[in-house]
Amino acid sequence: MIDRRYYKGSSDGKRPLTRDPLAQVKSRYDVIVIGSGLAGLTAANVLAKLGRRIALLEQHYNLGGMATWFKRKGGHVFDVSLHGFPVGMIKTCRRHWNRTISERIVRLDGIRFDNPQFSFETEFTRADFSNKLVEVFGIERARVDQFFAHLAGMNFYDDPGATVGDLFEQHFPGRGDVHRLLLEPIAYANGSNMKDPAIAFGIVFSNFMSQGVYTFSGGTDLLVREMRAELERNGVEIFSDAAVESIAVERGRVRGVQVLGRFLEAGAVVSNANLKHTVLSMVGERHFDRDFVAGVQAVRLNNSSCQVYMGLARGQTLAGNTDLLFTSTREAFDADSLCDFRGQSRTFSFYYPKTRPESGRYAVVCSTNAHFADWANLDASAYLREKARLCEEALAGLERYAPGIRSKLEHVEASTPRTFAFYTQHWQGASFGTKFEGLRYSLELSSQIEGLYHAGSVGIIMSGWLGAANYGVITANKVDAWMAAQLSPSLVPKA
Ligand SMILES: Cc1cc2nc3c(=O)[nH]c(=O)nc-3n(C[C@H](O)[C@H](O)[C@H](O)COP(=O)(O)OP(=O)(O)OC[C@H]3O[C@@H](n4cnc5c(N)ncnc54)[C@H](O)[C@@H]3O)c2cc1C
Repeated sequence: MIDRRYYKGSSDGKRPLTRDPLAQVKSRYDVIVIGSGLAGLTAANVLAKLGRRIALLEQHYNLGGMATWFKRKGGHVFDVSLHGFPVGMIKTCRRHWNRTISERIVRLDGIRFDNPQFSFETEFTRADFSNKLVEVFGIERARVDQFFAHLAGMNFYDDPGATVGDLFEQHFPGRGDVHRLLLEPIAYANGSNMKDPAIAFGIVFSNFMSQGVYTFSGGTDLLVREMRAELERNGVEIFSDAAVESIAVERGRVRGVQVLGRFLEAGAVVSNANLKHTVLSMVGERHFDRDFVAGVQAVRLNNSSCQVYMGLARGQTLAGNTDLLFTSTREAFDADSLCDFRGQSRTFSFYYPKTRPESGRYAVVCSTNAHFADWANLDASAYLREKARLCEEALAGLERYAPGIRSKLEHVEASTPRTFAFYTQHWQGASFGTKFEGLRYSLELSSQIEGLYHAGSVGIIMSGWLGAANYGVITANKVDAWMAAQLSPSLVPKA
């Protein structure tokens, strides 16, 4: 029986604006960054530190994009995409943000798998996975070492074009249980599946395997607050509630953006919005070569997500120390089934007071991968019914590990691909940007339109918190080099 008290729908409506979000805006900037996801934020910060005058325009009232959180009555705070990222985030934040941020990145130590094929805790490192493959799965150690050596030797520029499925069959033929161990967590982290290029899986998986899974202590709200403060110290002018309508291009060169009915001039524009939205909608097909447009049209979007946010009442606690639980009742592994509308596989992220020491609260977030199409056309009542069903399934799944949890909960709420599409403007609510083929078009944008760049989740590799932030750095450096070359043409690299 579903208890209706739990299912408080998230508001899917925009607030009317009571102020002019652009009241302080100037008419010209060196660079305009569209979107404040981790890639946009990082690109803006790096460019500002290089001395560029930057405006950051974000359509939502919060900064962070998918790296976001929300609050609910009763003191509940829920993180949306703070489940885990690789250790590389420490270096990225130390170099391109500051030590206050990097020093809050801590390792998760309670990671667990539980499914009909295997059940254990893991450190999520190469050493521990190797031991598990030998001791639990009965694979020869030499074969395990060969697999990891193969991953280490993978090279983006020398990719033979194998798929993840090919890679797994080469090293662990017919071992669906091993395939599940290797792919399931990465599928949740960036939407990879068996048909994606092995190189994309290899890079992301190896990033995690180096030292395990990390999180940001203090929650996403603190991270974004610290990032905003750093941007302001570096002189970035930040405008939220500022949805860019279009990117202005003249004679093959970017001129600025149209936002809330105003034109803002810029020497360069970095779009952190979805690649397809940037090219096909904000710029418009007529400004690109026909082949480029056809290529972008063919780029596939990655899958979306559903989540159920469960907040414990004040004073209620959770036993145990599991931070991340990959769980499934599905007998055998099938990567595509991770996106099933009525799926049997989900991850639970457990948030203890150690995450937000000042709040003393406990929360659990249940995440599943999802297809936008399954949710897009539900009418209002079917949508509410399916959200309630999602909550109920998450609760039933959680009860297996936390008996009596229902009586401890004060708030339960679901988000769907529609929620992600609404809050980030990502086409089809894509949680991890585009599939691999998007990377090429993202990288080549400036060869089509001078001064126009993209930074944001693409190609699986440049997805997730670390991939997005690192891509922001790469793009910022490209923009800076191009701007420097405008002043000093001799610096333009010879073709
Ligand atoms: C449910 C879920 C769980 C996840 N869990 C993890 C995880 O545990 N670990 C991990 O590493 N990654 C995780 N991810 C992925 C990760 O959050 C994203 O890959 C990353 O945050 C994306 O950053 P981004 O810079 O590409 O852009 P986004 O965060 O997508 O931001 C793009 C920004 O552009 C803005 N924008 C769009 N159009 C306009 C416009 N016209 N004008 C102005 N602004 C605009 C949007 O509002 C948004 O703020 C998760 C994602 C989801 C959805």
